[in-house]
Amino acid sequence: MATETPQLTKEEIERRAREIREQLAAVRQGVDNAVRARNPPSRATRLVAVSKTKPASDVQFAYDSGQRHFGENYVQELVAKAPQLPRDIQWHFIGHLQSNKCKMLADIPNLFAVETVDSLKLANTLDKACSHRSSPLGVFIQVNTSGEPQKGGIEPAEVVGVAKHIVETCKNLRLLGLMTIGLVERDELPNPDFVATWPSRQRTSVALQCLASCREEVLRGMPEIGDLELSMGMSSDYVHAIELGSTNVRVGSTIFGARHRP
Ligand SMILES: *Cc1c(COP(=O)(O)O)cnc(C)c1O
Repeated sequence: MATETPQLTKEEIERRAREIREQLAAVRQGVDNAVRARNPPSRATRLVAVSKTKPASDVQFAYDSGQRHFGENYVQELVAKAPQLPRDIQWHFIGHLQSNKCKMLADIPNLFAVETVDSLKLANTLDKACSHRSSPLGVFIQVNTSGEPQKGGIEPAEVVGVAKHIVETCKNLRLLGLMTIGLVERDELPNPDFVATWPSRQRTSVALQCLASCREEVLRGMPEIGDLELSMGMSSDYVHAIELGSTNVRVGSTIFGARHRP
């Protein structure tokens, strides 16, 4: 995996730093504009810079431009990167999490949230793994809003039950919100041109409406929670997702460039 900082010349370092600074600034501008265009413009939106497969030096360049929330998909990669980087980074784990990796993840002191809690069993295992943390770990329930089984996530009808379980019995977790992937990732498709023919705006709004109605149901049952975030939107659809009410967007390739599969 490309987590080691590559040997770069001074010029290459400067070029890469500038590239990331400019791309990050453009995405921030896009986020701000979309927040302003939102109706109602009540909630703030957090930008999570997805740094999977990118070297720690890339994360540092974004950090130097003020970015603090970063997302990673692979436990080993995050475990390797986190200690090389500033401790006030807020890490989001956004990949599929296996129970036997919970402990490794929970040992990262500046892990901000696991966005991909997709079963009761995983919630329980993660809860146990977090017993030594100084404060409860933030979690999002991953919801399968597309009906495609390979996407992962809890069925919408089961979200209320899982939310109740986390809030009432997982003392080391704090339910922050609901997350969905929505669109298939371009680079995971055998034929990337195929997805370009899909009505992506429409898919984004269907997924976000599903997520928002899950939130309503959860809050109806447990008004004491106050509010829940919605995590949706990637490079291809973050502007639209924010306009529709997403409060946490996960943007990778638009900031760091295309990924090469590890
Ligand atoms: C990789 C990934 C992202 C970022 O995708 P980009 O298209 O590069 O912005 C967001 N969310 C999840 C769950 C991911 O795996």
